[in-house]
Amino acid sequence: MPSGYYLGFDVGGTKITSVLSSKEGKIKKRVEVKTRKFKGVLDLIDQIYSTGKQFDDYDNIGVIFPAPISKKGVSLTAPNLIGWDRVNIKNKLREVFHKDVFIENDATAQAISVKLFDKGRKYKNFVYLVVGTGIGGGIFVDNEVYRGGNGYAGELGHSVVLANGPICGCGRRGCIESLASGRALARRAIENSKEIRNSPFLSSIPLERLSAEDLFSGRKLGDPFSTLLVDETIYYLSVAISNFINEFDPEAIFLGGGLMKNDPTLISELKESIDHELGKYYRDVPVIKVADKTVELAPIALSIYESSKR
Ligand SMILES: [Zn+2]
Repeated sequence: MPSGYYLGFDVGGTKITSVLSSKEGKIKKRVEVKTRKFKGVLDLIDQIYSTGKQFDDYDNIGVIFPAPISKKGVSLTAPNLIGWDRVNIKNKLREVFHKDVFIENDATAQAISVKLFDKGRKYKNFVYLVVGTGIGGGIFVDNEVYRGGNGYAGELGHSVVLANGPICGCGRRGCIESLASGRALARRAIENSKEIRNSPFLSSIPLERLSAEDLFSGRKLGDPFSTLLVDETIYYLSVAISNFINEFDPEAIFLGGGLMKNDPTLISELKESIDHELGKYYRDVPVIKVADKTVELAPIALSIYESSKR
């Protein structure tokens, strides 16, 4: 008999978060472990399985990864995990768990969670963007998540907004991830050591610890260089989001991720910048921040969404 509970794993470069949740999104149990990322695929599969042993009585399993994942469950490449190029993760996990396992790119699964557990319920067509250390995305078209030909669709972080811009983890230049992610924001500051020396606020922070959060704090305090970098970040994001609006004609844009937490005015500033950027193609597309719990429930949402199609 089905238990009505789902087991979800969010496998990241630093930690694996596992949750047991009801269909309604009520979390019953949560276990977090540090990712053993340098020991290869089989070791990580074993780590996911042994973490899973701490849970029982669930119907199926959803697992999300920071990598493009094909419809068959094969990872294209995972920049933050060693030895994950073209591995059929789905089959390997099914072999050990002896249960149905659904796997997906983390941001795509988060978009599914926006649809099932957040304000995405109200919309048939929307674009989700997660801005954290990196940038990912997910797209809903006519109430269905859009996966494209192989399953790799939604890699919105690798939309180029500055030709010949900074080099990106994907190998191209000027992707939005290389300009407006948390990591990019910190890097763009550190590269300008002269500006940092001239800023009483930023020069008080050890360079190796300088983070995107510090730049948001600097802007709040009126530090000119912090203000410039954060304003540029908002501009680059609005250029990318305006492209998505022109490409997909969404009814809403949803935003998640760590960078969005830094400043409560960020969403309204972004909206204003997008409205300006759209030019003659302007239409009023709401920009909505997602709840933290929506992101946490992503692997659960994936399980529910996929198993409902059976
Ligand atoms: Zn890229």
